[in-house]
Amino acid sequence: MKQVLHYIDGEFVEGNSERQITVTNPANNEAIARVNCASDAEVHAAIASAKAAFDSWKETPVSERARVMLRYQALLKEHHDEIAEILAQETGKTFEDAKGDVWRGIEVAEHACNIASLSMGETVENVARKIDTYSYTQPLGVCAGITPFNFPAMIPLWMFPLAIACGNTFVLKPSEQDPMTPQRLVELFEEAGAPKGVLQLVHGDKSAVDILLTHEDIKAISFVGSVGVGQYVYKTGTDHLKRVQAFAGAKNHSVIMPDANKQQVINNLVGASVGAAGQRCMAISVAVFVGSSKEWIDEVAAEIGKVKPGLWNDPEAGYGPLISPQAKVRVLDLIAQGKQQGAECLVDGSDFTVEGYETGNWVGPTVFRNVTPEMSIYQEEIFGPVLCCVEVETLEEALELVNNSPYGNGTSIFTASGAAARKYQHEVEVGQVGINIPIPVPLPFFSFTGWKGSFYGDQHAYGKQAVRFYTETKTITARWFDSDIATGPNMTIALK
Ligand code: NAD
Repeated sequence: MKQVLHYIDGEFVEGNSERQITVTNPANNEAIARVNCASDAEVHAAIASAKAAFDSWKETPVSERARVMLRYQALLKEHHDEIAEILAQETGKTFEDAKGDVWRGIEVAEHACNIASLSMGETVENVARKIDTYSYTQPLGVCAGITPFNFPAMIPLWMFPLAIACGNTFVLKPSEQDPMTPQRLVELFEEAGAPKGVLQLVHGDKSAVDILLTHEDIKAISFVGSVGVGQYVYKTGTDHLKRVQAFAGAKNHSVIMPDANKQQVINNLVGASVGAAGQRCMAISVAVFVGSSKEWIDEVAAEIGKVKPGLWNDPEAGYGPLISPQAKVRVLDLIAQGKQQGAECLVDGSDFTVEGYETGNWVGPTVFRNVTPEMSIYQEEIFGPVLCCVEVETLEEALELVNNSPYGNGTSIFTASGAAARKYQHEVEVGQVGINIPIPVPLPFFSFTGWKGSFYGDQHAYGKQAVRFYTETKTITARWFDSDIATGPNMTIALK
């Protein structure tokens, strides 16, 4: 069985801890790899090595840092399909979807190649006579990243390329459920020529995270994961006076106006709701049908019902299994609650399996209608292939419903009306809005801007906001005397 390795102080090591985690194939729950959780001493060693590496990395010229990123993005592209295959095997994602996961990460590494332009400061000449003010961005030190299972390539790549391009060093603690993909990303980073110590990889769970959250040499924490853990990470990290950005769970609504193109709505809702088995933080889990668009619900359900889950390498498969048996139990329990609480189950995937893989974490596509905000299937992030359909009469009612949600990650509206779209984009209290686009994940020159209970912090992932998150601004006010005539003391705070 494959042994997953840590990367500490420039060496790939098995680790000495007795505590082991087994990585399984979600399609049948057979073991495919084993990882020793990093011991406390190993996490401390990773942080110490990253701290030592910071001294020279921060002095490395920006174009040299950019060149490491250029080589890295080229290597990621060269190994794109191979990474996607590892990813598909440990997550169960279809090969096409796994390739998307890798690609959306590569786009961020590509963006990090622009670090010289991205990290430029500001200048104003003559803020007072013969006095100029200019600012620089300088790195923070050692940063850490804690990532979830559902995008084991994209989300680590949201973090370490930009943090490191800014001149920081980085400790990555990926999800223990699919650690092989992050290991491959780190191997390629070494191959790209990153100096020893700049990137560290430690595997494990809460005990490794707790050291990162409290260690005095960690200056900033990037976290992506569930709401409860996100709140814990944000509170503990900030309590230890660190900068923290914590991306958490979601419940994303798509509003369907009666003037929308019906076929586009159906096509888009299918992939956005049950694609990746609904295990996306930007999945559409609630479709809000406005007015007469409710007449399309049966057709939407019928199309979603046609999607067949299957193995990662089955080109006919619409999506794969859930990540773990626990995840499956949780989703089945929520489906059962939906039925008990009075929602009408139009398509029921609770009894689905794949022949020959009966022990896998399969859940078939599931669609409910007559869902109301009191129901647990409406309130909870199901993180499974389940779409909840809600009916309202007006756009105002739809807005009220969406704005009452505690989450604010993503939303979309399907309409042919510019006025309705403009009203929705302006009034909705959600950080990422799609207009006739179901899953509006911004490209890396923007930032990933979830709101409310989907995000704790202020500067978001990638784009300019990430550069602000991973740097300090130093502002210099300078005067050079061109004569030695003294003007006498200035007893005020004004620049003269
Ligand atoms: P998770 O919270 O269980 O795990 C995330 C990370 O935290 C992992 O590395 C894990 O080892 C660590 N962790 C788990 N429990 C911990 C604890 N008690 N203390 C400290 N660390 C702990 O999340 P997951 O199940 O891997 O990922 C799915 C969740 O991530 C969903 O809620 C999804 O919406 C969310 N997510 C959000 C975004 C976003 O951008 N908002 C993106 C992707 C995923």
